[in-house]
Amino acid sequence: MTSLPTTRPTVSAVRIVSLYPDLLGTYGDGGNALVLSRRLEWRGIAVEHITVDAGEPVPDSADLYLVGGGEDGPQVQATRELEQSQGLHRAVDNGAVVLAICAGMQILGHRFPDANGTSRTGLGLLDCETLRVDRPRAVGELLTTRAQLATPEGIIELGPLTGFENHAGRTIPGSRSQTLASIEVGEGNGDGTEGVVTGKVVGTYLHGPALARNPLLADALLGWIVGASAITPLDDADIESLRTERIQAARDHELAPRRSWRDILRRS
Ligand code: GLN
Repeated sequence: MTSLPTTRPTVSAVRIVSLYPDLLGTYGDGGNALVLSRRLEWRGIAVEHITVDAGEPVPDSADLYLVGGGEDGPQVQATRELEQSQGLHRAVDNGAVVLAICAGMQILGHRFPDANGTSRTGLGLLDCETLRVDRPRAVGELLTTRAQLATPEGIIELGPLTGFENHAGRTIPGSRSQTLASIEVGEGNGDGTEGVVTGKVVGTYLHGPALARNPLLADALLGWIVGASAITPLDDADIESLRTERIQAARDHELAPRRSWRDILRRS
């Protein structure tokens, strides 16, 4: 009896698209493409990385799309272009994986605020909506409890997620979405949870090259494409020590007495 292949044929490379890094790449989001590419190459899996700048056509046949963080104005432009193109919509309909960071998550939801606080229509690919609230901007370390991705094949454990955040909007997950984890340090979505997942579209407030600090999240996204059995173990010892250090730093910072900027300037 022939068993069905659990991984894609090795002939075709995994295609990763970085969408609009010229509009949404404020926080070093390009690092996520690098992390995903390396983790595939280290496993002997070919990868093709494509960068699509504003005004360029959005391919609809890639495996994984990255949408980064950015300022309020470019968010509106990116939404307009993606809405016109419909390339990302078709890709998601075809089962593509998406990782959307902060502004990226906000524009993939149903609604998000522009620079004036006016609510704009998002792409509707993530079941959530983002509001401007009467609270300070969320800026600093972000640390979660043990994160999980519930998939039809079972639960994928991601460990605590660690990163930084810098956003004014707060995001309300909808009934068709799951969150990634609860917050230990920081704000995340703003309701004590972090991240929004609808199908294979994953949004997070972990900024910039979040996957560098969260390799299990990187591998979960890749596993959706190449199959879990192709996600062979890698030597992540260096990343583990970085994670331990950053998780401790986030906890220490949370416990430290708050100093105002006036205090800090007076003492420097
Ligand atoms: N402009 C959005 C906000 O402030 C997103 C910011 C970001 O991507 N860091 O909420």
